[in-house]
Parts: sequence; C-alpha cells; structure tokens
Amino acid sequence: MSLRKVTVLGSTGSIGLSTLDVIAQHPDRFEVHALSAHKSVDALFDQCQACRPAYAVMSCHDSAEQLRRRLEDAGSDTRVLAGEEGLCEIAAGADVVMAAIVGAAGLAPTLAAVNAGKTVLLANKESLVMAGGLFMRAVQESGACLLPIDSEHNAIFQCLPVDDSGVPRRPGVSRILLTASGGPFREWSFEQMSGVSPEQACAHPNWSMGRKISVDSATLMNKGLELIETCWFFDVPEDLVDVVVHPQSIVHSMVQYVDGSVLAQLGNPDMRTPIAYGLGWPERIGSGVAELDIVSAARLDFEAPDEDRFPCLALGRAAVRHGGTAMAELNAANEEAVAAFLDGRLGFTDIPRIIETVLERADSAEPDTLDVVKLADHRAREQALRTIEEISRR
Ligand code: NAD
Ligand code: MG
Repeated sequence: MSLRKVTVLGSTGSIGLSTLDVIAQHPDRFEVHALSAHKSVDALFDQCQACRPAYAVMSCHDSAEQLRRRLEDAGSDTRVLAGEEGLCEIAAGADVVMAAIVGAAGLAPTLAAVNAGKTVLLANKESLVMAGGLFMRAVQESGACLLPIDSEHNAIFQCLPVDDSGVPRRPGVSRILLTASGGPFREWSFEQMSGVSPEQACAHPNWSMGRKISVDSATLMNKGLELIETCWFFDVPEDLVDVVVHPQSIVHSMVQYVDGSVLAQLGNPDMRTPIAYGLGWPERIGSGVAELDIVSAARLDFEAPDEDRFPCLALGRAAVRHGGTAMAELNAANEEAVAAFLDGRLGFTDIPRIIETVLERADSAEPDTLDVVKLADHRAREQALRTIEEISRR
C-alpha cells in the first residue's frame, strides 16, 4: 500500500498535535507532507525534526525566516514557505489535508484544499460558518472528499448512511440532536459569569482544546457555530437541529429517524477518535484512545440548554435564519470579542453583547464570491472593535 501524504494545517495546535499522534501510530499508512504554524517557531522546528516533512509553512513572514535559518543550520531538507500563499500551496499538494487552523485564517487554505479536490478533514469550523454556501458548492464542483472532525459532526456523519462516494444521505431523518457539554459555567448564574477570568473560561471540564474554542465552549457560541456547521455540512434546515446539554461528553451527537429510532455515537472525549476516523475513512484504524468503560461512566444526563444565561446559542440560530453574510459577521464579531476577553479588554458576559450589536446590521444578501465574505468579515470586525472600545470606556 502506498503511503498517503498528509498536510497538517495548524500542526502546533491542539488538533494538530492529536493528528500527529495518530499519524505516528500508522507509519505504514501515512507520511507527513507539510506542517504549518502561525508564530510558534520552536514548536514547528521540533515537529520538522521529528516528522521530516517536505514543507513547513509559517503564516507570519518573520517567523518563517527564523525557522528557515534554524532548519538550514540543522541540515534539514524541509523547505520553508510563508504566508497565506504558502498555506494554500501545501494544502493543494497532499493527498489528505487536516484543516486545523483556528478562526477565519483557516478559510483560504481550507478552500484551496477543497478546490484541489483533496480529502479534507475539517476541524476549522469557522470556514464553513463564514462561507458555507460557497464552500459546499466548491466541494461538489471539485469532487473533494469532505470529512467532519468536529466530534459532534463526526458523530452525526457516523449515524447517517453514506452513498458510494461517501456523501451523507438523510432519508427518514426527522431530527439531529447536537450535544453540548455545557462548558465550565453550566450551573453558574449570569451575574456570577460576569467576573470570570480567561483562565477559568479556558478550563474545560471534559476536553483539552485551544484557548479560542475553549472560550467558545464556555459561552456556548461553540454550539452556535456548530449549529451553523451542521446546517451547511449536512444540508439541513436549522429547525431540524436541536441542541441538548450532556455534561459527561460521552454521547457526541445523535440522529433521530421517522420510525422512532435514535442512533448515537459514543466514546471517551478525546479528539483522536474523530481524527483517526477521518484519516482511516472508509476503514477504521486505531487512535490510541482508551476503550470506553460504559459501566464506570454509569450515567448519561441530558438537559435543555438555557438560552437566557447563554445568549450566544440563540445568536447562532438567529444568524442562520437571517442568512446572507450574517454568519460570517457573527463569526468575525465573536473572534474579536473572544480575543478582547482573552486580553483582558472585555468582560466574559459582554461577548454576546458585541455579537448582537454586529448582527443587528448584518446583510441578508447571499454572498456569491469570497471577496463579499471577506468584506463582511472586515466590516463586522471594525464594528465589533468600536463597540468593545465603547464598552471598555464605560
Ligand atoms: P489551537 O489554538 O490549539 O491551534 C491553532 C493552530 O492554528 C496552531 O497551529 C496555530 O499556530 C495556528 N494558527 C493560529 N492563528 C493562525 C493564523 N492567523 N494563521 C495561520 N495559522 C494560525 O486551536 P485548536 O483547538 O487546535 O483548534 C483548531 C480548529 O479546530 C478550530 O477551528 C477549532 O474550532 C477546531 N476544533 C478544535 C477542537 C479541539 O478539541 N481543540 C475540537 C473541534 C474543533
Ligand atoms: Mg465540537
């Protein structure tokens, strides 16, 4: 069997590290074609020494220069590229692309992998949230094989039948149940949440993740983004998708059928399971995740989400209903608000306020080009920054 060449976009992040861990367990199946990071020169240098990829890309040009010198000094053959152009080049040059850059920065390289017709393992949910219509059209036109890595979407994918080319079908599906852990503040009042620190928000009870998605999980915006991701990925209307809080994070989502059947996918909360599923698809390969001990898990609780305490969830739903560039604007406002919160410039409970203000002026015209999406993203960020400024002056 010939080795499949894998590009890992965002290889120094939480998903990137788990992906390299799974790849390392299967040297007979995969070789690392290219790795990428934003500014973490030390981490990418170490990964290049360990994996010997053909290419390494740093999106920051100064960091790329530093990495190039260090790899040259070490006698490495890895070629260093820089910026978005470099990311798009390595995305188009492999058999399989793990899209694990965080945020809007992942859109262009993920789309480059799609346009090149690759097998794309989608962790970067923001790209689908921002440009879902364009993105899914590109998948159809290029014949790319898109596989979901987000644990919920991976679970839904596993609970749906697929056609011969791997496209999920939904005959007889009556409802999709998207599970949410509820985050670290599930039982806190809105007043209690107003004083939380970035460290408290990033301490997720079940999952170990990057800082941005950890804050998204704490506000439940992660579930708002995932609701949008579900609608685009599986081509379902928003009212077919219910969010269910499941604090143990063992059931990763469910699909309900018209005959009353409910199919669920269960497992320990470890991203190496969906990553191995995507890498091995359509076969199953080992992930290194411990077997689920259902007896010691003992309880599976489910409850309805509280949208008064967690307004971000309703904002996600409002953006899908609004349509057009509202989803890109919601994403942009959220990224700016989360960055401001992590920097100590904004309170935790002000995050939904920023997003709401931006959404009030969102455009409902369907974007037909990427430039329209980028413009909406830019406009939303400017407005979000102005509102953050106003709130912090009060
Ligand atoms: P992370 O912050 O741990 O890592 C992000 C990676 O992207 C790093 O390699 C970083 O160098 C790179 N990066 C950051 N900014 C960049 C920029 N401007 N340009 C290019 N590269 C940049 O994030 P993560 O937790 O691994 O999440 C990655 C993506 O996967 C996100 O979209 C997240 O929503 C999604 N996801 C993560 C998890 C999880 O468990 N961590 C689960 C589901 C989905
Ligand atoms: Mg998820």
